[in-house]
Amino acid sequence: GCPGRLLELKGNIRVLCRLRPGMPSSLVNAEPGPGGTVTTSYRGRQRHFRLDWVFPPDASQEEGYSVCIFTYGQTGTGKTYSMEGPPEDPGIAPRALQSLFREMGSGGQHRVTLSMVEIYNEAVRDLLAPGSSERLAVRQGPAGQGGIQVAGLTYWDVPSLETLHQMLSLGRSNRATAATAMNQHSSRSHALVTLTLRGASPRGPGTAGTLHLVDLAGSERAWKTGAAGPMQGDRDGARRLREARAINRSLLALGGVMAALRARRPHIPFRDSQLTRLLQPALGPGATAVLLLQISTRPEDLGETVCSLKFAERVG
Ligand code: ADP
Ligand code: MG
Repeated sequence: GCPGRLLELKGNIRVLCRLRPGMPSSLVNAEPGPGGTVTTSYRGRQRHFRLDWVFPPDASQEEGYSVCIFTYGQTGTGKTYSMEGPPEDPGIAPRALQSLFREMGSGGQHRVTLSMVEIYNEAVRDLLAPGSSERLAVRQGPAGQGGIQVAGLTYWDVPSLETLHQMLSLGRSNRATAATAMNQHSSRSHALVTLTLRGASPRGPGTAGTLHLVDLAGSERAWKTGAAGPMQGDRDGARRLREARAINRSLLALGGVMAALRARRPHIPFRDSQLTRLLQPALGPGATAVLLLQISTRPEDLGETVCSLKFAERVG
């Protein structure tokens, strides 16, 4: 499917390595994390093996495999087209979901759950709880269990691809409803679709994998949206400025988190935005992130295009 191909472009096979706990470790040592290393001392010779991710012996079962696909770019460059696409030319989401369901088969060994949120001005809203415009609180999960909890977020069982598509279009229309009420709202918010694959048996292996599909808000800078200096009483200008600041801040936070992960810094600033807080599990151990950069080739967009490419250079 499409995500598979994207991963190939980024460096095809990701090799993850987990050290079994409860064993002597003086001859095999790990430097865990992304781009981690395993060092062996064998017959007096030290060797270093570089892997895509190394899990230390005390890694938990929850650190399942996770893939996160982002579309990044200025409004109008095709983020939503690439992510969703029209029915006659389906994008990443429908293709990924189709291959997910195809690979699962009909054995009933797995359960798929879906959640869908949008982040607008740092407020998190459930797109699959109709009629709910409530702002959800994002909390750190209980210590040791890792992860993030979104209070009141609905998680839906998805028994079939058909149901999944119905739910996704429900979520999209909930986002679009706000768009008509609030001019171009959808390009000013991030949309996150999360699919979790679990073993169906109660004693099953827990979370087998998670797929996050993130259609980011337009990355254009504040001044471009005409919000540089709202006149007094210019409610619309003030709103746009607030939106632009929230988006700039969260995209900057995303770039900061990715750059910190890449540089293997000890502190990853996940808490800098709701976007990075929500995606913390998706960017943590065992996760693969793919950033699809959408750019415009129009001369008048060159400034934004360069900014987008710089963002990609910083994180990739
Ligand atoms: P964004 O989500 O980045 O704001 P859209 O996905 O809404 O941008 O795309 C803007 C316009 O360009 C839409 O009318 C969309 O149909 C069109 N478009 C974008 N990418 C393609 C493509 N690859 N092929 C055909 N049309 C496209
Ligand atoms: Mg869009």
